[in-house]
Amino acid sequence: MPAAEQLRVGGLLPFTTIDYPGELAAVVFCQGCPWRCRYCHNPELLGAKGRNEMPWPEVVSFLERRQGLLDSVVFSGGEPTHQHAIHSAAAESKAMGYKVGLHTAGVYPRELEALLSSVDWVGLDIKALPGEYPRVTTVEGSGAPAWESARLVIESGVPHEIRITVHPRLLSERHVAEIKARLDEMGTHHVVEQPCLVSLCRDPELRTADAEALAVP
Ligand code: SF4
Repeated sequence: MPAAEQLRVGGLLPFTTIDYPGELAAVVFCQGCPWRCRYCHNPELLGAKGRNEMPWPEVVSFLERRQGLLDSVVFSGGEPTHQHAIHSAAAESKAMGYKVGLHTAGVYPRELEALLSSVDWVGLDIKALPGEYPRVTTVEGSGAPAWESARLVIESGVPHEIRITVHPRLLSERHVAEIKARLDEMGTHHVVEQPCLVSLCRDPELRTADAEALAVP
């Protein structure tokens, strides 16, 4: 397993109350993601290397200073499971007494499965029905790993929230209802819809709030 020092960190949010339900958290933004979602809000984190990377020892030093003040560390991205060093970084965070949260799009189910025993809460994005994923991610075959990851998270029993980001051009109410029905059948009721902040979308064509004009059938 690569050492935590190898984790490429693209940024650190020192304090948040909304990224891990009920917890005071810091968020570590991990560099790298193989998908190119049209509504991605963090394009600077998609490449393997970032422009403003922060060495992991600096993150550790920050976390040591916040012991007793923060409850948890959330690994977000980018896609945190893109880097093998996430396992060591999560373990180090736990060893410091923090709960560990994970934001993931379920890109790598096997990495996620191996990580689940080290995390206390997962926020998993489900972006579309399986066959319609490329419309969002622009990557063929991206639906299967995401839905496999949903199965793994649900069956693991790890506390979780499955988030459906709704951009009216990419998901209709019918799509959302079908996604929710599938997730319900899979055994989770921890599903939330979140509106897409259209002004932050990577794809300029999606930067409009004109839902009626853009709605998919
Ligand atoms: S999976 Fe997340 S980080 Fe990767 S492109 Fe999509 S929205 Fe951006």
